[in-house]
Amino acid sequence: MQELIDFFETFKFNITIKGHIFVISGFSGVGKGTVIKELLKRNPNMYFSVSYTTRHRRHNEEDGVDYHFVDKETFKKMILNDEFLEWAIVNGNFYGTPKSITISKIEKNIDVILDIDVKGAIQVKSKLPNLTTLIYIIPPTGKELLNRLYKRNTENIHEIATRITTSLIEINYINAYDYIVVNDELERCIDDVEQILKVQKMSSKVQFLSITASKEAE
Ligand code: 5GP
Repeated sequence: MQELIDFFETFKFNITIKGHIFVISGFSGVGKGTVIKELLKRNPNMYFSVSYTTRHRRHNEEDGVDYHFVDKETFKKMILNDEFLEWAIVNGNFYGTPKSITISKIEKNIDVILDIDVKGAIQVKSKLPNLTTLIYIIPPTGKELLNRLYKRNTENIHEIATRITTSLIEINYINAYDYIVVNDELERCIDDVEQILKVQKMSSKVQFLSITASKEAE
C-alpha cells in the first residue's frame, strides 16, 4: 500500500491542448467584426483567418487584412487545387477559408477565429468536429440591426435587402450552432463569447492528458 502511495506521489499530470477553431457567424451588420477585433485584442495568441473573396473591396477595407480580394478565375483555380478548408457562395460572391494556414495554426496550439457564413460553418464542423465551436450572434431587434447597417453606410438599399434575406434564410440553420449570443450590449456580448472560448478550451475533447512519473516531481 505504501509503495502505491509513494509511487503516486511522483505523478505529474500533463495536458496538451491543440488549437481550436471558433467560428463566429451572424446577421450582416450584427457587429461580428467588432466582437472579433476585441477578442483578438484581449487574446493576442489568437489568429484571425483572412478569407478569400470575389466580392468588391469596400472603401474601408484593406487587401490581405480584411480579405484577400481575388477574381472568380483565381478563386475557382484555388477550389480545384483543394486550397480551401471550406468555401461557399454568399450574396452572390465566392468566399473561402484557406486550408493550410488554418491547419498549421491549430497544430501549433494557436486558436483560429473564422468569420464565415452558415454553409461554411457546417462544412468546418463536419471536417473537424472536436476542434470546432460554432457561435452565432443575433441582434436584439430588426430595427437595431437596420440602424447599424444605415450607420455603417457601406451597402445600398438593394444590398441591404439581399443581406437581410440571406440572414433570414441563415437563421433556419441556427440549431447547427453550439452557442447563440445576443449582441444587445457590446461589452457583455464580448464577455459572453470570451467565456465560451475559455470553457471550450477546457473540454476533454480538446485536452490530451498524459501522466508521467518522476522522482523529482513535487
Ligand atoms: P461581407 O461581404 O459582409 O464581408 O460578408 C458576407 C458574409 O460572408 C458574412 O456572413 C461572412 O461571415 C461570410 N464570409 C466571410 N468570409 C467567408 C468565408 O471564408 N467562407 C464563408 N463560407 N463565408 C464567409
